[in-house]
Parts: sequence; structure tokens; C-alpha cells
Amino acid sequence: MQLEISSIFAIIGEIVVYTIIFLLIAAIIGSLLIGYSFKTEKFVFPYFMLFSITVLETLVKALFRLGGMNDSIVDKVGIDIKNKISITKFRNTHVNNRLIFFPQCLRAVDCPSKLSPEGMKCLDCGRCEIATAQKTAESLGYQVFIVPGSSFIRRLVRKHKPEAILGVGCMTEIKAGLEMCEKMKLFGVGLVLDKAGCVSTVLNWDDFYEFIELDRTAD
Ligand code: SF4
Repeated sequence: MQLEISSIFAIIGEIVVYTIIFLLIAAIIGSLLIGYSFKTEKFVFPYFMLFSITVLETLVKALFRLGGMNDSIVDKVGIDIKNKISITKFRNTHVNNRLIFFPQCLRAVDCPSKLSPEGMKCLDCGRCEIATAQKTAESLGYQVFIVPGSSFIRRLVRKHKPEAILGVGCMTEIKAGLEMCEKMKLFGVGLVLDKAGCVSTVLNWDDFYEFIELDRTAD
């Protein structure tokens, strides 16, 4: 009996050791692929990378820091892969069933807009690019919202019931937003701000217009 218990513990010990070795190897391979994708913008084994980013995030980020690299690369590549996976499904939805969310920090510091249940209401004052972007997107069929936080997004999604979402935000917000889309079974795509912060954030507007106008040029 004594022998049986010790053999069970030995088997459990072996399983634990092999699992740790497997996870470590997976994290190392995942990290190498992520670093390669970041440098070349080529996504090799995207689903394996996504596995290492989502399941082994802490380990992969630790390996990046150990290698003297910025661990935000992991988030960036994760967002790029999720965007790539979602983009076709996003484009297959009707444009009227898509929402765009801008963060309120993208407005001019002296923005005169007022908060409403649907987010900040742009007054087209010309102090920032949002008014033009909103008009362009709405002319294509999108619904556009300027929101102060994720609770607004959740509420507006429940109210408008879209099929797809284009979100603009900092890396952390986009990461959380794409996870939210997965949970809510929506096709989410994220555009990351060039400069994040609490105010006066910066978006590459050319990327934004290129993204929303792609459907029109494809017709
Ligand atoms: S254009 Fe709209 S969002 Fe931008 S500062 Fe003016 S009112 Fe605010």
C-alpha cells in the first residue's frame, strides 16, 4: 500500500515536471515567433502564437523582459493577430450593423461636447478630427460613438446589438475590447492609438480612413 501511494506521487511528480517543461518550451517557441512576427509583420502559426499569448502571457512576457525586450510587443502582436483573424468576418457584416467607438481622450482639450447617454455628442467645432471622421463613417453606414469608458461600450452594444465593432484606443483598452467582443460573440477589430494618455491622444487618421473606406473601394 505504502509502495502504491509513493508510485502515485512519483507519477504525479513526473506529470507536473513534463507539463512545466512543455509549457516552457511552448512559451519559448511562442516568444520567438512573436518576436519574428513583430520584426517582419509575417504571422507564422498565428493560432499557436495566440495560444502562447493568451494562455502563457505571463511566462512569454517574462521571457521578453529577460531578453531585454519591451513586453508590450506581446500585446501588439496579439492584437494584430486577432485583427487579422476577425477582419474577414468583420467585412462580411453589413456596414449598418457595425459600431465605431472613439475614446474621449481623442478630442481636443477644450472640446465643447456634452456627455449624453450615448456618449459625448460632437458639436463639430473643428478643433479635432473626430467630427470629420464621424461624418465620413456615418455617410458609409457606421454608427459612431465617443465614449468615456468601457461601461458605455457594453451598454451601447446591448442597446444597438451590432454584429461588429471597430474600436480605437490604447493597447490595454483594445486588448480588453477584443476580449469583450469574443465573449459577446462580436467581430471586433482594434486600431491602437499612436500616442496614448488621458488627454490629447493621437491616432493615425490615414489608417482609420483607409480601414473604413476599404469596403467602398472594393465595390
Ligand atoms: S470636433 Fe467634436 S469631438 Fe472634436 S473638439 Fe470639437 S466638439 Fe469635440
